[in-house]
Amino acid sequence: MTETDIREQMLIDGAWVDAADGRVIEIESPRDHAVIGQVPRGGEADVDKAVRAARAAQPAWRATPPRERGDAFRRIADALEPELERIARLSALENGNAIRTQTRGESAFVVDAFRYFSGLAAEAKGETQPRGDLILDYTRREPLGVVGAIVPWNAPLMLSALKIAPAITMGNTLVLKLAEDAPLAILAVVRKCQEHLPAGVLNVVTGYGTEAGEALSHHPGVDKLSFTGSTAVGKRVMEVASERVVPVSLELGGKSPQVVFPDADEDWVVDGTIAGVRFFRQGQSCTAGSRLFLHESIFDSFIDKLTERLSKLVVGDPLDEATDMGAIVNTKQFDKVCDYIADGESQAGARITIGGVPPKDGPLSGGNYVQPTVIANVANDWRVAQEEIFGPVVVAIPWKDEDDVIAMANETHYGLAGFVWSHDMGAALRTAHRLDAGWVQVNQGGGQVLGQSYGGFKQSGIGREFSLEGMLDSFTQRKQVSVNLAH
Ligand code: NAD
Repeated sequence: MTETDIREQMLIDGAWVDAADGRVIEIESPRDHAVIGQVPRGGEADVDKAVRAARAAQPAWRATPPRERGDAFRRIADALEPELERIARLSALENGNAIRTQTRGESAFVVDAFRYFSGLAAEAKGETQPRGDLILDYTRREPLGVVGAIVPWNAPLMLSALKIAPAITMGNTLVLKLAEDAPLAILAVVRKCQEHLPAGVLNVVTGYGTEAGEALSHHPGVDKLSFTGSTAVGKRVMEVASERVVPVSLELGGKSPQVVFPDADEDWVVDGTIAGVRFFRQGQSCTAGSRLFLHESIFDSFIDKLTERLSKLVVGDPLDEATDMGAIVNTKQFDKVCDYIADGESQAGARITIGGVPPKDGPLSGGNYVQPTVIANVANDWRVAQEEIFGPVVVAIPWKDEDDVIAMANETHYGLAGFVWSHDMGAALRTAHRLDAGWVQVNQGGGQVLGQSYGGFKQSGIGREFSLEGMLDSFTQRKQVSVNLAH
């Protein structure tokens, strides 16, 4: 098996298996459309086997002392370290994210997350309540049972690690459904996990959302659903979960604002907003700050700087060390991004300052490459300003009044992230407090950090999973125990 001829399997009950009906999904690299491997096309029968295995493994795993459960992830992290470069290459190949700017960091994050949650394994503490000497009233944090988790393709390593480690260290067993476009790198991680976990504790199914994903969210043996993906599918998962009153965590889409004040027309802000748009991941990030609200007094000057800076980004082969920005994950997503750009371009008054719909021929036409694109002079109610494009596209909207810009920024059904840029801390923090978003950054445009409270407001999600508190809330349930000591 070479890097471009991979035959992967699913992990069910400690064994590596094909789909029950033998079907497969071919994985195409967005860098050149070459098929690089295949995974099983898991369906209802496979999901059923995986959930049964997870149920069977539950009693022994929840009885395993928490520190021992955590230790498994410390050992997995150590075992993964020498594999990280291979995993980073695989990830770049399958989902098009550039190895230098994205997938190396993302694979290192997996090790970091495993170590972080390993150390938190014994922190699922309860409380005692004062009821006098004759009553002992206390709470316990217990595992939920079998967790069904579903992840997307855009940051598959990071997002899978954030389900696997907290769910399992808390004593749950897990069935994880990977994204059909990017299962290979995380399966390489899972192979290491399996060397240190009992059979059935971690089960991993590959397949399509409408088949394996639906089967998992419907399965009566699943006690909790943890979903990361689009708002549309998140609603569907929540609807299905409501039939059985199963708790859900949802990390969904976004259309996040970046508000730039008049005193912030500076190069470091330009660089920060570029990071905030997640241009280095082709804008394929839930927290992308893809609506840029620029004060009218600096609008033209800021756009000039932004355009100049973006023109220096190298778009190309994700495995090339010179590449800043790789390829869009698949042809469907590529076409969708191109349609949005064409739609924005066709609006009266819109001005594309860089990028645009990619040419059909030329050096990059063999893969899903889109140049960084800025659409200036956009109105806040246009589709490009309201819908999640999930591509390297930012819309720029002018503003002059603080109340107005906050109203415009909040005029969306999403509420995942926000960015504010100003030296005036009063203005910056006022704005941060008034934005309807689960995560606001001031004067920085970085990614999530372990330990933060990360999650969405409004239709961007429910629940938090990135921190100790998130882990406790999402992967344990509280039990109150009340004891009469008088007898
Ligand atoms: P998607 O919702 O299409 O798919 C996500 C996962 O759900 C995939 O594994 C898919 O197979 C599965 N799925 C699809 N239909 C299903 C169904 N009916 N039942 C069960 N599972 C189903 O999203 P995507 O295109 O893979 O990812 C991009 C989206 O994810 C964007 O909207 C992005 O903002 C969001 N996202 C959110 C976060 C966050 O932390 N909030 C992080 C990353 C991505």
